[in-house]
Amino acid sequence: MVASDILQVFHCEGTSVLFFDQAWPSRCPVCKQRWPTQPFESFDAVLATAERQQKSGAEPAVLDQDVHPAQTGPELSQGVKRDTTASSVAPGGNGLVSGSVEWHGMTVQRIASPLVSATQSQRSLLVRPTAGNMLWSFTAGSGPLHVGIASSDGSIVFNFDERGCMRDDIGWSECIAVQLPQLAHLSNEEWDARLESHCLEWMASMEPQQTGYHVTDRNCFDFVLAWLSALGVDGFTKSDFAESFVRHRLATAAVYVKLARGIHANGFVLL
Ligand SMILES: [Zn+2]
Repeated sequence: MVASDILQVFHCEGTSVLFFDQAWPSRCPVCKQRWPTQPFESFDAVLATAERQQKSGAEPAVLDQDVHPAQTGPELSQGVKRDTTASSVAPGGNGLVSGSVEWHGMTVQRIASPLVSATQSQRSLLVRPTAGNMLWSFTAGSGPLHVGIASSDGSIVFNFDERGCMRDDIGWSECIAVQLPQLAHLSNEEWDARLESHCLEWMASMEPQQTGYHVTDRNCFDFVLAWLSALGVDGFTKSDFAESFVRHRLATAAVYVKLARGIHANGFVLL
């Protein structure tokens, strides 16, 4: 399963329906009223315009989130339950909502997936659970994380683990990505060359046959911080780095992941 964007539709009063983009239901899962079909072409264009306007700081073409279509609120159909635990992590407050539009009397919001693959995030620092991926393996607040650096085309992720410096071409499909503006001056050729030489230097400082890995003192984060330091981006401790770049993104990803797992299991989620 790919980490699709999610659409959140406010149709019935008091509840919203969330489902994956491109999986638009023919009827409202709550009140069963028929919805307009196949909106994607025009709907995407409208959303894209709203997103552009939001980015450029213009008045968004929307959409007071408090103004929902005045449907009389039907009771939830039997067997359709609101996910009250998910409500506590509603997407609105987490910067996940990337666009919102009025469409045929409903408010439709797009919740952009914060999960990316290495090939979508060239020249990024990538974070994922040590085992598995963000979508299925991530549990907020627990489990070790792994970090790597994507090459200029995202085809290789340089990282460091018990085996030494690795150049992965698979396994980084659903990650969170951090791009550092301080590194924007490097050309792609420099970026890749510096990555390669960082790997070699990092390993050259080891005894032969040793990877020098230590779970807390010389781990994947040390490898990345040493790379940043070599490029003049200095002064981060591991906890600074996690606080500045990772913690907020993980919190956002946790909201998305919870919704995406619920939608995958049931076809939709009610909030
Ligand atoms: Zn409805």
